[in-house]
Amino acid sequence: MAYLVAANWKMNKTIAQTIDYLDIFTELVKDIQKVDIMISPSFTALSSASLKVEKTNIKLGAQNMYYETVGAFTGEISPIMLKELNVEYVILGHSERRHIFGEKDNLINKKVQSALENGIRPILCVGETLEERELGKTLNVVEKQIKSGLAGVYMDMPFIDIAYEPVWAIGTGINATPEQAEEVHRFIRSLINELSKGNDSKTRILYGGSVNEKNARELISQKHIDGFLVGTASLDPNRFYKIITEC
Ligand code: 13P
Repeated sequence: MAYLVAANWKMNKTIAQTIDYLDIFTELVKDIQKVDIMISPSFTALSSASLKVEKTNIKLGAQNMYYETVGAFTGEISPIMLKELNVEYVILGHSERRHIFGEKDNLINKKVQSALENGIRPILCVGETLEERELGKTLNVVEKQIKSGLAGVYMDMPFIDIAYEPVWAIGTGINATPEQAEEVHRFIRSLINELSKGNDSKTRILYGGSVNEKNARELISQKHIDGFLVGTASLDPNRFYKIITEC
């Protein structure tokens, strides 16, 4: 199983900035084979990015999608529209979607099911808030988010990746320590192994939350960390490349 190092650009970069980034980044990573690389630009830049990454080793992801494929859903993006742009991954249940936009496990589960039905690989994001961690509820929260996010699709585990992103570590510059991350990753691995009846060997468990070129090596050296979901540090092609080379 190759590591997956994925960029979540969030609401950053115009089309022009995306093209400038990819001019640099495609060259930097062109010889990397042992790590799967994914970028997820804004929806408006996806089309241009799709052309730029064609015939490269960079895969395209979306930051969200709706679960219906067509119809009266003002402002939403369909999995079919993503497929048309050769989008292979979709980030679902990100903490910003949960906390700023009020997405609940039930909606996230529908999106996961729809991504699978439409041949897009979901990256289900889970993670506890600082308050939940301090109350000792981290593993309970993560277990609930995984069980409800993946309800009905446990047997599709080979087509799913998971990102553990503690909310308190996102965009704060305070990453989980390798030990803190490893504890949760080990728990997630055993949980998905049980839920899928042992069919989880193709599922990567990514860590996200203030990953940078300095902490990447120690984090990736943990047994159950299979890659990263990177926000801030992925916005600079040189920093993101450096993270990839640490894996
Ligand atoms: P930062 O790397 O900026 O902490 O963001 C992490 C994240 O939310 C990736 O999805």
